[in-house]
Amino acid sequence: MLIEIIDKIAEDELRERGDLRYKPRPSNAGTEKCIRAQVYAGLDFDAKPLGGRFAQVLDDSSWHEELSLDWISKSVYKVHSRQLGINCIKFNSPLLKERFCEDIKKDGKIVFKGCGIYVPAGTVHGHIDALITCPDGSEILFEHKAVSHGVFERLGNGDLPTDYVTQCCLYYKGLTELLDKNLKFAMLFVKNKNNARKIEYHIYYNCDTDSATVELYKKSDEGKLIPGGTWDMKNIIQNALFRWGEIDKYVAAKTLPRRRFDVDDWQCSYCRYGNYCWTEYQKEIKGRKDLIELAPETVTEIIRLKNSVSKNRIELEKEEAKIQLLILDEMVEKGGTKAIAAGYEINLVQFESRHCDKKLIPAEILEKYNTASELATTKTIVEKVTFKKIKE
Ligand code: SF4
Repeated sequence: MLIEIIDKIAEDELRERGDLRYKPRPSNAGTEKCIRAQVYAGLDFDAKPLGGRFAQVLDDSSWHEELSLDWISKSVYKVHSRQLGINCIKFNSPLLKERFCEDIKKDGKIVFKGCGIYVPAGTVHGHIDALITCPDGSEILFEHKAVSHGVFERLGNGDLPTDYVTQCCLYYKGLTELLDKNLKFAMLFVKNKNNARKIEYHIYYNCDTDSATVELYKKSDEGKLIPGGTWDMKNIIQNALFRWGEIDKYVAAKTLPRRRFDVDDWQCSYCRYGNYCWTEYQKEIKGRKDLIELAPETVTEIIRLKNSVSKNRIELEKEEAKIQLLILDEMVEKGGTKAIAAGYEINLVQFESRHCDKKLIPAEILEKYNTASELATTKTIVEKVTFKKIKE
């Protein structure tokens, strides 16, 4: 009874608020998100409405931030400048108009609280979560993320959240021009929503070289802060600017970049543009048939992948996925299904991807799920790049 009511209220409120129009902002910087989905947003396609439960997940995250900052403010660390507006960086985009960051109202209700500051044309603007003054008087930029148990485990095991780091670096850059005192570092504070475990990333960003050293800290069983890994990131803001520039180009040309993920990837399952994205896919794959020649850079990447020996499985998998995408892009571009390169026969093969949508099952037969799930299983042909070593 109450479950239905709460979900409905949350869904209605979210729908009333609507989506903010796409423009380059720190929270959508970085290269992890699907660029095709960002272009759909830039082209003003109607995104699938978020359900009531998801609306509450977003709301929960805001409350987790409140709770964490409340705990911190009870310590010797001082929390201030919450939601401070920052002009982070110049970026020449037609979507970044001269403006004041003002409240956005819908039907008389404030759906976005502006900070009121002047934003010149071509300026990426955002709002930090807070600044924290340390006992020694130095300042830390604080960015809070409350995540699911699965995401938390992944991060704790060494999967660096590069989009979040990029977001922090953009704020950091804008802040260094705003503050008269030095920032110690940017802290990305990640909380597990299930069990309140936390990790801290200390991000030491160098504005001159556009690079950062990122340190991960966890809590030991004895309650002490212990290091959990260190990463060096390069060209952080440059990569963000390049990505926004690509999105602007696609939006201006009213075209779409290729799909970045498989249809059964979690990014596609949660994507709000999935109903547009895969409509023409079957027709597209039927049109590919030729043996093609891959570009020398692609061949170099294949050799690098196949010769590399890494102890870090996650990094290796990421590399493989990146090179697979590179090959997939080129094979699709050239209309081929097969290539011979670097001693491998590379095939673009088709798989059947199955997805069971329980919403399609009528309530009265949901109990007999085994039969019903077969009825509700949708089958999709998807493409994957495979390698087969050629005998010498
Ligand atoms: S459905 Fe997948 S590939 Fe398509 S836009 Fe969304 S995330 Fe990107």
